[in-house]
Amino acid sequence: MKIDPVVDLRRGWLRGLTFAALVSFAGCSSPDFDVIIAGGTIFDGSGGAPFVADVGISGGVIGEIGDLAARTALETIDATGFVVTPGFIDAHSHAEMDESWGRDGKHFLTQGITTVVLGLDGGGPFEVEDRLQGWGANGIGVNAMTFVGHNAVRREVMGLDARAPTPEELDRMKALVRRGMEEGAFGLSTGLFYTPGTFSETEEVIELAKVAAEWEGAIYDTHDRDLGATYQGVGYDASVAEGIRIGEESGLRVIFSHFNPQGATNYGRAAVGARMIEDARARGIEVWAAHHPYTATQSNLRSYALPRWASGGGTEAVLARFEHPDTAPMLRTQIVESLAMRGGAEKIMIVDEDPVLNGRTLAQRASEWELSVPDAVQRIIAENGNASVMNLDLYDIENTRYLARMPWMMTCTDGRTPSEGQVVAHPRVYGAFPRKLRLFAMEGNDIGIPFAIRSFSGLAADFFGLSDRGYVEVGRVADVAVIDLEAYRDRSTMMDPHHFSEGVVHVLVNGAFAIRDGEATGVMAGEPLRAPWQHGGS
Ligand SMILES: [Zn+2]
Repeated sequence: MKIDPVVDLRRGWLRGLTFAALVSFAGCSSPDFDVIIAGGTIFDGSGGAPFVADVGISGGVIGEIGDLAARTALETIDATGFVVTPGFIDAHSHAEMDESWGRDGKHFLTQGITTVVLGLDGGGPFEVEDRLQGWGANGIGVNAMTFVGHNAVRREVMGLDARAPTPEELDRMKALVRRGMEEGAFGLSTGLFYTPGTFSETEEVIELAKVAAEWEGAIYDTHDRDLGATYQGVGYDASVAEGIRIGEESGLRVIFSHFNPQGATNYGRAAVGARMIEDARARGIEVWAAHHPYTATQSNLRSYALPRWASGGGTEAVLARFEHPDTAPMLRTQIVESLAMRGGAEKIMIVDEDPVLNGRTLAQRASEWELSVPDAVQRIIAENGNASVMNLDLYDIENTRYLARMPWMMTCTDGRTPSEGQVVAHPRVYGAFPRKLRLFAMEGNDIGIPFAIRSFSGLAADFFGLSDRGYVEVGRVADVAVIDLEAYRDRSTMMDPHHFSEGVVHVLVNGAFAIRDGEATGVMAGEPLRAPWQHGGS
């Protein structure tokens, strides 16, 4: 990988001296900086051309950028030949910050990620303060922020009922959204594909979104109702239109989570969704998106295999529909049809913690049990309630490549930290960022490296209102990655996932070394982040 920085901000006359020598002859006065990252090629997150400079950090903040060869520091890191970037922002994450085995954020740090956006797909808490306090008290390895989730709110008030809320229930849901926003949520997230969000009309979501929109700048983060592979769904195009409408009528700014059409019928159709976003932006609606570079998705078996009508209520209610003569034949037929939209049971790879299920496709599991696929689905629900699954080849890589070029496209892992002992996991949690850089900017020529780095950092900082992060810029918090671009690559694959990405040499989170010389330090330097939005009182 050849990088040609256009500017070298260092004067050069002192370069022959080692920094160690400078520190020693600078004598007894206190050093100018805590850390100097010297001589790296800086991609500052703006998308502009890289330049060579030293970065001086004090008190967890970037204090100076330029030629710092005559200056002193407690520690100087030689970054010659490496790139220096803002710490990356994972715009849609399932980092397990509440679990003892996930709090260190190592899967993310090893990609250069220093901030994760959580509480998405409708799953975020309404007890936001509790969540943030827990992160602060237990310690987290990366910065973390959250949304308040529509599904969590609806479930609290209405359980899994497949109906519209009463006016009184809607008021209670609004109160929970308000609570989440007051406690620091960045906005409202929905997962209208999932239960119980799938039972909601658009108008219900707009009413709740209006509450979040009382905070100026707040965000609507949507997991589409139908990404294109929903059985008897509304279709991808109508689903994108719904997300835009919710933003337009509520006043929230919109981000489409993992934006990409799904299913073979949508291969090559990325431009359709992109055009809808461009048109909305031209009308003055703020619409953005995030994506990862993998063609497999991950969710749960019920959401992929069951028609909507069969997914309401608890496990008992679902299982009863497999037995009742009025529903059983139709359910079995529709499970087969639902899975056909996803490429069939052989494309459903089970990644559940349960070792009996993990690492086999649904088709394999069914044949080992000598059951039909619908009967295998029934057995898994009866024995496990549900199962985590991947859907292989649901995204078209050419769609993803096309969307990578969009100036409003951020980057995410959508990755969930695997639990200890989990054999097969989606590789995106290990490698989404290096894989995107390699596929589209280093091996492919779809986007430039500065543009890709911006989609990892500055673009997301701007969108999420993180005005003190996301750029290598004086005055910004020192979330910084030092990367050996030649070596930067994902090592995790579908069937052999548990390999961290390589090439990240150092990572500073809030000025502290979370990765040093390629090794995680275990320092819990992350902070819980509260939304900066002010309540407008409307
Ligand atoms: Zn997600």
